[in-house]
Amino acid sequence: MVGKDRIPIRGLHCLCMFGTVNLTLRAKLALLYGTIVAVTLAGFAGIAYVTVSNELLRNLDASLERAGSSLLDIIRKEQQQARKPLASLRSRGRLSKTDPLRVDILDRPNMRNFVGPILGSGTVAPEDPVWSAVYEHMLLNSSSTALQLATDDGAVAWKSDNLGTDSLPTYGMFAREASSAKPAPIFSHYWLRGERYRIVMITADVASVTAAYPLSEVDETLRRLFSLMLYGMPMALVISGILGWFIARGSLKSVDDITRSARSITASNLQLRLPRSPNNDEIARLIDTLNEMIARLEQSFAQVRQFTSDASHELKTPLAILMGELGVALRRPMSVEEYQATLASCLEEVERLTNVVQGLLEISRAESGQVTIERAPVSLSVLVGDICDDMLLMADSKGVGFTTDIASNVMIEGDKTRLHQAVLNIIENAIKYTPQGGFVRVELLAIDGKARLLVSDTGIGIAAEDLTHIYDRFYRVDKARSKDIQGTGLGLSIVKWILDAHHATIDVVSAEGAGTTFKITFVTL
Ligand code: ADP
Repeated sequence: MVGKDRIPIRGLHCLCMFGTVNLTLRAKLALLYGTIVAVTLAGFAGIAYVTVSNELLRNLDASLERAGSSLLDIIRKEQQQARKPLASLRSRGRLSKTDPLRVDILDRPNMRNFVGPILGSGTVAPEDPVWSAVYEHMLLNSSSTALQLATDDGAVAWKSDNLGTDSLPTYGMFAREASSAKPAPIFSHYWLRGERYRIVMITADVASVTAAYPLSEVDETLRRLFSLMLYGMPMALVISGILGWFIARGSLKSVDDITRSARSITASNLQLRLPRSPNNDEIARLIDTLNEMIARLEQSFAQVRQFTSDASHELKTPLAILMGELGVALRRPMSVEEYQATLASCLEEVERLTNVVQGLLEISRAESGQVTIERAPVSLSVLVGDICDDMLLMADSKGVGFTTDIASNVMIEGDKTRLHQAVLNIIENAIKYTPQGGFVRVELLAIDGKARLLVSDTGIGIAAEDLTHIYDRFYRVDKARSKDIQGTGLGLSIVKWILDAHHATIDVVSAEGAGTTFKITFVTL
């Protein structure tokens, strides 16, 4: 079923996922566009949410760590200062070597009380660097920041007022021994009074600091971001869907215009063309392609019409002669000789009709692809030699000189029967169109991987203006000139088709009244 064949269109498959749904191309494009936007937005929102969440936590950790380590640095320095007298006592033997050099720097109750509760107005901070730093820290940081100092044995030495009776975990609870010289801070989550806190625990040899901050602020920021995405995304989706719809409508408007114009072009007005778009875009290229296709259709239709009219014309003449001859024979009684002459003339016309019909059949079968060309090694030398042997009799009987020069072992690939038909036609034409006393010469040469067949005659020749038409169907040069020579005007068009199928070329050189030479070139094996 040739008519049902479809040419697959690449690229349409992305729109075919909506294929089962009966939607217009415009709706499919808008839907596809919307889906792409939705997936992109969702991906982007997910990445943004995770990045913001990580970044907020990282910033919180950094500020808690900063607070904790600045306090710890001051405590460490103080401790070193306070140890100096103890160390000198030990060096003078006043302190045994087993006595630890421990100074309870955090155990200064008067100072500790000074920090918490927060100093009232008019109170002056004492000159203690540790508790001044703690005090400063409490003043500068948000009231939600909780701070806890513990001694190296894990006992809580001081905690900020906002912790009340609760306390935070100490470094030692998580890592029993700070093995490395500078132990790494520990970050963790901690539930306090039903609220989630982010805590940082830092330690140095004499004390550990735990700083905490409620995660509710971070959670609130993330919640707001999430709601923004939750409500913003559908809105963005609806807006992009509507925009996509309008964009698709605008782009496909020209396709609608083409459809309307194309509908008005039928077999009877194939001279019409689709209006050319002023832009040089895909639509313009589509219009150009469609116009080229319509031009080809117009040409094919014209050829079919021409072919039908030529064929009917060719059939009409012999049929009219037949009718005339038979009518005369029926109208009045005739002698046996007259009947014989009439029948002979009728037979001639029937032969002509048979030739025309056979030629037509062959051409139409070739054009519809029903003829298959075999590909087998063929000896062109043998094939041309055999034809020449047959043609010698024809030339002799007509009084035309016939000479040949055929190279041996010239092999080509092709269909022996079709090649025979083509070569025979060319040599037959040469004898047919050469008057008595003339000469025909057939030469087969093998040059540079090519086989060249030259068929020359000293016949009536072909005028320059006719040379380009001799391969056209039913074309006969000057019918009056060749009216006595039998022919259908189909021979050379069949020859041309056979040679094209064998990738061979045919050239003709001719001068009217002087003769013609056909040159056929094949590729040898
Ligand atoms: P036909 O059946 O008329 O011979 P062809 O298709 O074989 O049809 O040839 C087409 C026309 O080309 C012929 O009618 C003839 O006028 C011209 N032609 C072909 N071969 C020769 C030739 N060797 N010498 C002169 N004219 C030729």
